Amino acid sequence: MFYLCSMKVAIIGAGAAGCFCAVNLKRMLPEADVTVFERSSRPLAKVAITGGGRCNITNTFRTITHLQQAYPRGWRLMERLFRRFGPEDTMRWWETAGVPLVVQDDECVFPRSQDAMQVVRTLVGLMQESGVRLVTGCRIEALPEGFDFTVVTTGGSPRRSGLSFLSPLQVDIAEPMPSLFALNIDDPELHALTGTVVEDCHVALSGTKFQADGPILITHFGMSGPAILRLSSYAACQLAAQDYRAEIRVNWMRGLNEEQVRAELQPYFASGKLLGKQHPPHLTSRHWAMLTQRAGLPDTIRWDKMNRREANRLTNMLTADTYHVSGRRTHKAEFVTCGGVALSNLQGQSLSLKSRPDVFLAGEVLDVDGITGGFNLQAAWTMGYVVAQNIAGLAR
Ligand SMILES: Cc1cc2nc3c(=O)[nH]c(=O)nc-3n(C[C@H](O)[C@H](O)[C@H](O)COP(=O)(O)OP(=O)(O)OC[C@H]3O[C@@H](n4cnc5c(N)ncnc54)[C@H](O)[C@@H]3O)c2cc1C
Repeated sequence: MFYLCSMKVAIIGAGAAGCFCAVNLKRMLPEADVTVFERSSRPLAKVAITGGGRCNITNTFRTITHLQQAYPRGWRLMERLFRRFGPEDTMRWWETAGVPLVVQDDECVFPRSQDAMQVVRTLVGLMQESGVRLVTGCRIEALPEGFDFTVVTTGGSPRRSGLSFLSPLQVDIAEPMPSLFALNIDDPELHALTGTVVEDCHVALSGTKFQADGPILITHFGMSGPAILRLSSYAACQLAAQDYRAEIRVNWMRGLNEEQVRAELQPYFASGKLLGKQHPPHLTSRHWAMLTQRAGLPDTIRWDKMNRREANRLTNMLTADTYHVSGRRTHKAEFVTCGGVALSNLQGQSLSLKSRPDVFLAGEVLDVDGITGGFNLQAAWTMGYVVAQNIAGLAR
């Protein structure tokens, strides 16, 4: 079906996906009458606090060998959508819009200004310039009438009730649950190391295939940092099913196995130094003291006097240090919901509902979520752009 260029489009939710969709739709189809409804008093409130106020706007994806690593849920859809608007398109788009970007060593991309408000101001400015109507303080309780198309971009909702306005459409909902959270570990000795960061760790959820790599941050409540947040994302459903009680195994030695660690520590084992006086340089003395104590080894023992069993206990502690998780914590810097409107409701890449082809969905409202590192905003930009393209395509 083809529509007149003066088509009326309602976008519900002035977040990353909704505002990006609105701006791009007006660029593609200037005659379109686009209204964005936002329940709060200002648009893009979440974007303003992303990346600790710096906005991790996207990622180069250079360290991602398979999209499932970045998007535990929804990677197949993202793979197809990236062919239409991927990370490189995103970076070009923002640079062209007057937001120069920088790529960090960890491949996360930020505005050069390190200011999320620049992203907010740019999108809001572009919406105003192009004539997008923004209605704030307007919570949508039922799909608005009088529009040719509706785009639902209401973001993640930790409860099903947040999606109740979609009930008349009888869409399937994947149970919403948190993703990207730190883990509570009741261990005073660990807590004493608060602030310690260990680069290049490997962490696994015992009894499952879920595992993740990256730095670990030891906190006053347990553990956080990219490796833990990634694990929480990959294992979000499993951890919820276990009521966030689980056992994790931490490899503090870059994922090396026991044999490799023994080989790496060989010069130490050959030395007559005290265990407490010589340790791998990436571990702090206090952390090392805790690990050797956990292995039941006195720091007064000499490296070359350790018997086989003691050496095994040490390498085992470095490669499979076990902790009991007693709950989850929301991370200050990033928090997303996994679950939401099931992708089976969609007509593939069109991102419209099978039951209502005039209703499109984009962003975190869908059962798509990424790990930490700019992947969630990238999903919002991609889906917002593709919906704009699909709607514009219907007018030609
Ligand atoms: C603290 C924090 C930091 C983050 N940092 C990063 C980061 O650095 N990089 C990254 O990639 N991701 C980050 N994320 C995740 C990222 O912000 C989200 O994935 C992204 O904003 C999702 O975009 P969205 O448009 O789908 O939803 P949102 O940005 O959440 O927007 C949804 C909008 O819809 C509105 N709305 C909801 N219901 C209704 C209704 N019924 N009627 C009208 N309006 C409604 C909401 O008020 C909201 O404004 C962070 C998240 C948090 C919480």
